[in-house]
Amino acid sequence: MSSAGDCRHFRGPFHHKTCHAGQVFEEVTRPGRRLPCLNLPDRVDTCAAYDPLTELEAATRDAEVAELVNDILSGLCGECGLPTEEHDDGGVLIRVCPEHGEVMRGCRRAGGPA
Ligand SMILES: [Zn+2]
Repeated sequence: MSSAGDCRHFRGPFHHKTCHAGQVFEEVTRPGRRLPCLNLPDRVDTCAAYDPLTELEAATRDAEVAELVNDILSGLCGECGLPTEEHDDGGVLIRVCPEHGEVMRGCRRAGGPA
């Protein structure tokens, strides 16, 4: 999945109230929980700060994300590359970096490393 056309300021709205540009997500979200940030077919144009990634920028970003995910799934911290420790929290797999703390939390059945 390419992130071309997604806003360069976007970051996870479940963890942040604002994007990197300081726009409050709630102010630009439309009914049906639609955000203007992502390049979806029914994208709403409600944000003045929307600045889409070009194909090249998106390809670079996607490659970085893929590498990060790959590191985490192979048991390394995505921040520093140190090996993470694996903990089992009642069926939930948690990987913890000695420097950066929790880097992943997920169900083993969701396709993570066995
Ligand atoms: Zn780390």
